[in-house]
Amino acid sequence: MRKAVRAVILILNFTIAFAATAAPASAQQVDWSKKTLQSERSRAFDALHYRIAIKLDLERKSFEGETTVSLTSLRDGLETCILDAEEFTVTKVLSDWGESLLFEQSAKELNVRFPRPLKLGETRSFTCFYNGRDPKTGLIFADETANNPKLVFSDSFPDHVHHWFPCYDYPNDKVTNEIIATVKSGLKVAANGRLIRTYEDSSTSTVTYYWSQELPHSTYLIFLAAAPYVVVQDFYKSLPVNYWVYPQDERKAFPTYGQTPKMIEFFNKIYGYDYPWQKYDQISVPSGGGAESTSATAMTQAIMVDAKSARDFPAIGIVSHELAHQWWGDLITLRSWAHTWLNESFGTYSDYLYFRHEKGDDEGAVNLLGKLNSYLREARARYIRPIVTDRYDRPGDMFDAHTYPKGALVLHMLRNILGDESFFKVLSHFLHSYAFDAVDTSDFIRSVKTVTGQNLDWFFDQWLFKPGHPVFNVRSDWDAARKIATVTVSQVQDFTRGIPVFRVPAAIAVVTPEGKTARAVWIREKEETFEFAAETKPLLIRFDEGNVLLKEINFPKELGELLYQLRNDDVIGRMSAAAELLRFKDDPKAFAGLSASAQGDPFWAVRRSAVETLGKLGDPRVPGILKKICLEAHSSVRAASLVVLGDMKDRGLIEFFKERFVKDDSDLVKAEALRALGKTGDPSLIPFLEKSASVPSYRGMIKNAAAQALKQVGKK
Ligand SMILES: [Zn+2]
Repeated sequence: MRKAVRAVILILNFTIAFAATAAPASAQQVDWSKKTLQSERSRAFDALHYRIAIKLDLERKSFEGETTVSLTSLRDGLETCILDAEEFTVTKVLSDWGESLLFEQSAKELNVRFPRPLKLGETRSFTCFYNGRDPKTGLIFADETANNPKLVFSDSFPDHVHHWFPCYDYPNDKVTNEIIATVKSGLKVAANGRLIRTYEDSSTSTVTYYWSQELPHSTYLIFLAAAPYVVVQDFYKSLPVNYWVYPQDERKAFPTYGQTPKMIEFFNKIYGYDYPWQKYDQISVPSGGGAESTSATAMTQAIMVDAKSARDFPAIGIVSHELAHQWWGDLITLRSWAHTWLNESFGTYSDYLYFRHEKGDDEGAVNLLGKLNSYLREARARYIRPIVTDRYDRPGDMFDAHTYPKGALVLHMLRNILGDESFFKVLSHFLHSYAFDAVDTSDFIRSVKTVTGQNLDWFFDQWLFKPGHPVFNVRSDWDAARKIATVTVSQVQDFTRGIPVFRVPAAIAVVTPEGKTARAVWIREKEETFEFAAETKPLLIRFDEGNVLLKEINFPKELGELLYQLRNDDVIGRMSAAAELLRFKDDPKAFAGLSASAQGDPFWAVRRSAVETLGKLGDPRVPGILKKICLEAHSSVRAASLVVLGDMKDRGLIEFFKERFVKDDSDLVKAEALRALGKTGDPSLIPFLEKSASVPSYRGMIKNAAAQALKQVGKK
């Protein structure tokens, strides 16, 4: 769902914020306990099918609809059918055999009276005739802009579909549907399911698209869009995979979406459930992020990249996330918004899994660290809450960094406890058991029990139904006489507001010149000490080897240990060491280590972390080193170097920044070069910055950086 774009941007641009001095979550701006207590909606009938015939006039921003509702009564003696209906006017309702039915329409509901009460289990259908004009939500008529043609698209999430046809608009009821949409000739209509046919009417210069969604799904997943789309065709085996883009974006279709067939293959394999729908379309719309309508994901046009921008701003995060929802959200669907994690945490964990599969372990580890930091920012600055909770004022409240990254990290820990084989068996069992149904968290927990035989209630209780996360203070020591290394682990999180003492398995590794030994321990108490045999003083003691835990940690290390870690640990350990070496900023060994790491570490994120710490050392050799690093291979490291150099506000660097702007081919770096120029505050740069602003770039980032720089150099 829509936050995905934000999530992707965070993955690309997050600042490495290691909790060197972990502090319990402080000022909570939102008191979650004050949110409204919600419960799953009850219903008197089971909606079976909606046949939605709709004429859309993009010029007048109006629509005329005829929706046939088929339903089965879940009550004996059901006299009326109350449907959600908003922002359109119902003119008549006819029964199957053409008899007018009595109805009343209020601001939010349509109440249709049956000729005689329905018996329990009795099925009926009727057709509502209605018209509407430019609704505020649910169906968006968009004007032409520089980025998009004039178009109309539905924005049904989370419960706005009833703004363009009358229905029971809540995710706990699944339906099939047809969409028969008529628009002006020349437009193309995208929707869910299978395209039955299209027909032109030359007398009215209109075209009608007849789409049929033949497998049940929830109403918020019903979608249509009409625009002068170019449909770029692709396939996964015999499955049609199409990219519906605006004419000016055609050449960007493959750089943006081209990995989709590979992603389908990957998810088919890991979920143990083949892609469930008849085709997969991704459709450009002007706003939002991604919205995973069944077999027809609406995707903001802003993610479109050409081959060059795809290097710095690949779309695979959001593309894989929305695709994963075709299983997690569309095939199985949250029963109420309390269980949003069943859609979004699984979607977010899936985008990590694909990212790691595609880019390797190190990139995967950094992706997961980005998710951790994204959650920690929310937990520290805004609020903590249980991932699964009945308290929310509106469904949108649940679409936050608890549901997306925290839930994904919880799944990662569950996978670590169960092991890969069992974890993916659970996912497959869950999908097969509840396919085309609405689910809640207890259904998932049941699948875990059925597949693995393990009662993990304690795990779900602390991670899903309670708020917060562990904050560890870790100390290590070595007893030369006993040849024993000790590691003391304390949980120091704020234990108010229902935050528990956590029970977690943690791998602790002890590295000595003789080699590395890693052991899994269980942490259950507020403070525990673990002992490890160590013939010689350890070179490094590593807590949470493998970086599995959702945690903050404060583990002070000596200079020698940090320098060893900076050279020898995994990517996350090396990044952490680079950040923590700041504590030894006046020691020449720290400078030497960071300088070597910034220029020579094999992985870009470690180099970037070292660059950021170097920038805080105040050593006169730093600018020379960073100028060299501005020529290195990874744009993110080059950009980080320019941030540091810019912060020096040295007008002596102006020519260098100008040259970097002109010569570097990355928009990310070019934009940072302009910001660095701005920081010098030199008004003579105004003509250069004004000229630079016209250089085209991904999402206008160069233009924005130029505007920011112009302000800083005093342009009024
Ligand atoms: Zn999502």
